Order: sequence, then C-alpha cells, then structure tokens
Amino acid sequence: MKDAQCIFCRIANGEIPSRTVYENEHFRVILDNSPATDGHALVLPKEHYATLPELPAELAGEAMQVAAKVAAMYQEKLSPDGLNLIQNNGETAGQTVHHFHIHLIPRYKGDRQLIGWKPGAPSAEHLDGVLARILG
Ligand code: AMP
Ligand code: ZN
Repeated sequence: MKDAQCIFCRIANGEIPSRTVYENEHFRVILDNSPATDGHALVLPKEHYATLPELPAELAGEAMQVAAKVAAMYQEKLSPDGLNLIQNNGETAGQTVHHFHIHLIPRYKGDRQLIGWKPGAPSAEHLDGVLARILG
C-alpha cells in the first residue's frame, strides 16, 4: 500500500525527484537532504510501512541486503573510515518521517558527528528483571 500523503512514498515511487543512489523493485535509496556526512542515505521501501514492527519479515531482510549493497558501493566510491546504520521508530526514538527508513551514514575521521547514547549502569537485579519481562 502507498500513502498519497506520505512524502517518502512519493519519493520512493519516483513521483518526487530525489538523488537516487540505488533502486530495485522494492526499494529506493536516496541521499538525505540534510545529511550528517557526505553520502548520508536513506533506504526506503516503495510500499508504506511506518515502523519496523509493521514491516513484513521478507522486506526487513531485503532492506538489510540493500543497505549492504550500498555500503559496499560506498566503500569503493567514498572510502569512508566507518559506517553507521540507524533506524528510528516512533517520535520518542527520533523518527520524524513516519515511513520506515534506514539511515546509512558513512563516517570520516574528524567528521565531528555525534551518534550514540549515554551508557547506563543498572544493577544485575535490574538487568535480570528486564530479561524476565522480555522472556516472560
Ligand atoms: P528520521 O528522523 O529518522 O525520521 O529521519 C528522517 C530523515 O529524512 C532526516 O534525516 C531528513 O533530513 C530526511 N528527509 C526529510 N525529507 C527529505 C526529503 N524530501 N529528501 C531527502 N531527505 C529527507
Ligand atoms: Zn509512505
């Protein structure tokens, strides 16, 4: 299903022009227009799914294959020193466009980008409690 109001549906399906670095039957990969670094790209499925839990398993697998293909292309063409894959789900997690996408962010020594989190220091009991909730 496509959502006519969704900008990423329209970009993924070629209704709005984009800087496309890769395309196949189910996905389009475009350059982010406010990139963290040179080559920052977004892997977009052509069908509308808002978040990862909604994405069919087969497409989730394909999305990672597409990301790997672009990562290999970047290795050859942009020679980054590293690469982050980031995938935000929900506003709390920083998602601003509610059409599933994977960010591919090539990293260059000295790029001064901040991508990460503040590590916690939970007790063993707390970690055990979390595990019990997940497995229970
Ligand atoms: P997120 O915060 O994970 O939802 O990421 C959305 C990303 O989409 C941001 O990095 C935006 O810069 C990018 N973005 C939004 N609109 C466009 C657009 N029309 N073309 C390219 N990138 C876009
Ligand atoms: Zn969409």
